[in-house]
Amino acid sequence: MELKTPKTLQEAIRYYSDPDVTFAILVAVRWPNGVTCQTCGDKTPIFLPHRRLWECRNKHAKRQFSVKKNTIFESSPIGLDKWFTAIWLIDNCKNGVSSMELHRAIGVTQKTAWFMLHRVRLAMQRGSFEKIGGEVEVDETYIGGKARFMHAHKRAEKIKGTGGMGKVAVMGLLARHGNGKDHSTVRTEVVENVKRPTLHERIAEHVEPGSEVFTDALKSYEKLPPEYVHKVIDHAECYVKGNVHTNGLENFWSLLKRSIKGTYTSVEPFHLFRYLDEQAFRFNERKLTDAERFAETLASVAGKRLTYKELIGETASPEPLSPSI
Ligand SMILES: [Zn+2]
Repeated sequence: MELKTPKTLQEAIRYYSDPDVTFAILVAVRWPNGVTCQTCGDKTPIFLPHRRLWECRNKHAKRQFSVKKNTIFESSPIGLDKWFTAIWLIDNCKNGVSSMELHRAIGVTQKTAWFMLHRVRLAMQRGSFEKIGGEVEVDETYIGGKARFMHAHKRAEKIKGTGGMGKVAVMGLLARHGNGKDHSTVRTEVVENVKRPTLHERIAEHVEPGSEVFTDALKSYEKLPPEYVHKVIDHAECYVKGNVHTNGLENFWSLLKRSIKGTYTSVEPFHLFRYLDEQAFRFNERKLTDAERFAETLASVAGKRLTYKELIGETASPEPLSPSI
């Protein structure tokens, strides 16, 4: 089957409505060098066309497997047509998509939509051991959770150590000419506080020695190790002095806050990092076309799995948390 690349949401919905198409795409993305048994690695499993499954020739448990095995789609009864549409939407809507919008757009329950969105966010997550360098802006912000609406015991366990009152501290590092791209890229991390040891540790972890580090006048940034060229902009005086500013990150924070306040309205603090992953992905891949961003996310669905139990947390009370976004 010759695969095409839809360019618009409308084309994507039409094209991905054919189960043969989505199946062929996912097989091609997952196994570019041929289908492999998900248990023993054998490269000659037998295809069972009526069930769209493969069966391994070797005798072991779990001989049969589907194309969804070991991906964010594993165990999901939702068709790939809806999954692909969900990925297209979240990749390409600048402010994200709420579970309520997705529920109405593709006809699944809001709870299912919420779970799907979190799994797509997992595919958008980009961990990197490579440090960023050159001109690097570093800044921190607080994102307000709606912790006050939680039960007291839940609230205590979820906001412990995050600055109190449901506000979560987030640190951002922006490389102005980021990692092999010709535009800026950002990394974000939820931090337990904005004290000096915490922020310095993250800078050492993410930023190459020899880099220029631009921050505001927060005391926690003082006394950065001498391997960094630290330049400070005191916002009490002005916001820009030559190339000394943190405007790149300010711009990212405003996008993030617009998305969280406008689209998601309430984000529980312990899920916040997933929204950060989502927003950072869209920001870092903003020069790609819609189709290219979709392909980027789809290429990362394998090897990732998120169960509903993991998502709501092991310590959840018997009645599940109601999806709030
Ligand atoms: Zn096998």
